[in-house]
Amino acid sequence: MSGQEFFQAGERVGVLTTQPLDRLLDYRAPEGGCFLGAYVEVPLGPRKVLGVVWGPGAGDFDSAKLRSVIRVLDVAPMRTEMRQFLGKAADYTLTPMPAMLRLATRAPGLSDPPSMRKILRRGEGTPDRMTDARRRVLEVLEQYGGLAFTPRELADMADVTPSVVKGLVKQGALREEEAPRDTPYPHLDPELPSKQLTEDQARAAAALAEGVRSGRYGTTLLKGVTGSGKTEVYLEAVAAALRAGRQALVLLPEIALTAEFLTRVEARFGAKPAEWHSGATMTERRRVWKMVGQGAAQLVIGARSALFLPFRDLGLIIVDEEHDTSYKQEDGVLYNARDMAVLRAAMCSAQVVLASATPSLETWANAEAGKYQRLDLTSRFGASVLPEMRAVDMRSEDLLPSTWISPTLKQAMKLRLERGEQSLLFLNRRGFAPVTICRACGAQVACDHCDARMVEHRFMKRLMCHQCGETKPVPEVCPSCEVEGKMAPVGPGIERLAEEATSLFPEARIAVLSSDLFGSARALKTRIEEIAKGEADIILGTQLVAKGHNFPMLTLVGVIDADLGLQGSDLRAAERTFQLMRQVAGRAGRAERPGEALMQTFQPEHPVIRAILSGDEESFWKAEAAERQAAGVPPYGRMAGIILSGSDLAAVFDLGNAMARNDGPLRQIGAQLFGPAPAPIARVRGRHRVRLLVKAAKGAPLQEAIARWTAPLRLKGDLRLSIDIDPQSFF
Ligand code: ADP
Ligand code: ZN
Repeated sequence: MSGQEFFQAGERVGVLTTQPLDRLLDYRAPEGGCFLGAYVEVPLGPRKVLGVVWGPGAGDFDSAKLRSVIRVLDVAPMRTEMRQFLGKAADYTLTPMPAMLRLATRAPGLSDPPSMRKILRRGEGTPDRMTDARRRVLEVLEQYGGLAFTPRELADMADVTPSVVKGLVKQGALREEEAPRDTPYPHLDPELPSKQLTEDQARAAAALAEGVRSGRYGTTLLKGVTGSGKTEVYLEAVAAALRAGRQALVLLPEIALTAEFLTRVEARFGAKPAEWHSGATMTERRRVWKMVGQGAAQLVIGARSALFLPFRDLGLIIVDEEHDTSYKQEDGVLYNARDMAVLRAAMCSAQVVLASATPSLETWANAEAGKYQRLDLTSRFGASVLPEMRAVDMRSEDLLPSTWISPTLKQAMKLRLERGEQSLLFLNRRGFAPVTICRACGAQVACDHCDARMVEHRFMKRLMCHQCGETKPVPEVCPSCEVEGKMAPVGPGIERLAEEATSLFPEARIAVLSSDLFGSARALKTRIEEIAKGEADIILGTQLVAKGHNFPMLTLVGVIDADLGLQGSDLRAAERTFQLMRQVAGRAGRAERPGEALMQTFQPEHPVIRAILSGDEESFWKAEAAERQAAGVPPYGRMAGIILSGSDLAAVFDLGNAMARNDGPLRQIGAQLFGPAPAPIARVRGRHRVRLLVKAAKGAPLQEAIARWTAPLRLKGDLRLSIDIDPQSFF
């Protein structure tokens, strides 16, 4: 990177844009000049696009044709450290730089002029005539209850033309106001009293605070059972960062971003922090983006992509529930937020805290190897104790056909109802039934576009494909043998379990928590808060109940099918099942009342089930680590998945075979190539998917080799290639 920090008007600058081009574009610096890192608007063909001044121009473009930067945006220039972070993250994930820049500028309206601006709210008037477009505009406002938007945001969100919005203003249905553009966040005060920490907690908090004060990079695994006070402890690390005048970021899995959590932060620091997640409005996102850059937001609580915000001086990153699979972005840019947090921290001399009750094997191994510091909280806070865990051996339980709640579990639930306590049944399957089968010919209903079976969702009275979202009615007549009235659901989904629970306990208040049953993340969060207050007796949930909610009245967890995650050939299956079961069990007995966890299984002697029940975590991890080491897979080896897709299967395989034949760059680093083979999901939305897997030794320059291997490829027609470094599933 060049040492030049400022470019005079007319000087040649190289600009990285958000457009999918594989190089910087040369422009002339505008009147008044511009700084290195300045966010600018530049002409590209007939359009204006967003970019960042990345360095001096390359000079190989005809200077007579050179165009000028249109203007410099009124935001802090991108810091050198951020440019380096984006560059390294791009190299690591093999993502083109423009895509990285898009990730780092996901705040609309950055290029709007500063100071005051016009915003619109719902007005008193009613439109003379209600059109579809007008109704959509008013619905958007209603949906965001009382919030205001700029005319452009409103038009975009309602998908109408600006003139529709103008029309509504004229009729008084929308009211115009002037508002200051973006305001700083209220000051957070680290000196407000914290909770009285236990000895264990205080020791961990002191160690974290010391790391923050050192002003150097470092990563710590904060391991503690659910309810041990990890949050209380890391909030003290946040306090240390605030005292040092540096910023802090707390990353949470999207769904754990609850009002309850924000209230806790507010109680500790006296004001609410900035929030960054998919539920935030565009206005709010832009405010966070800008204030973070000016240092006027001390603390951000955010989902994964908050990692790419332009912090002015980031001193601490907390990754809560660091094992959570939602940290791995599975579409668009493929990155693991946990790994990127460590990368970013290393570049800005910040501390990282990875908090979890059940760390990922990667993190556990890094702590074992001494790369990460490790702090343990071994007991739950206060009176609450870990639930007693038991297996229910399904081989000796008496169950009627098409029922899944064993007599043992039913008895335990009955007891909770009598005591006025809550039970939670966990089944990681959305919908009513995973399979619909014809009792006459045995055919199963599959999606027309994907390699997947259709799942019945009774509340919408349709079958749905969980890959592409396609739906169709449950057929009366078998599509295969044309016999009528023989189509039947097989196996349980969460909705079917709800039916069973209702028939067992008709008087109980039953709540079903499954992501697809809620219109928005907001609605789901509201429901979770109601349940926490006791507005349900029996809670039925899919994966999402495993994450960080606090239900004080909950004393029983029933795992309907503990064997579910153990099937399949994924190497991470054991680790995932272990984490999920321990997390779910951790939901019980969080307040004063002790909890119990019952796991229904057909294989109580399976090593993973035994490890879960015994709670002997270190042995479980050691055994897992030994197996991975023997197989040479992550974290003891390196892997990359290459997914090829296209509408023509033969063309996709041809490409895969051609790549396999020309694997020189991979062989040079001693890597092995597997495939091409059909991907785990071989067809999605009518596109065939083929996978190649690259496996290399730990220290091998994998990305560089893959870059050399794929560079000469020219993808024809609708063929696409995507590269996934450190894929979550190996097979
Ligand atoms: P974790 O993040 O490990 O699940 P939390 O930090 O959420 O644990 O703590 C669990 C519960 O115990 C929370 O309600 C928290 O406020 C409470 N708690 C933990 N430590 C203390 C403490 N030292 N004093 C008072 N309450 C505490
Ligand atoms: Zn489909």
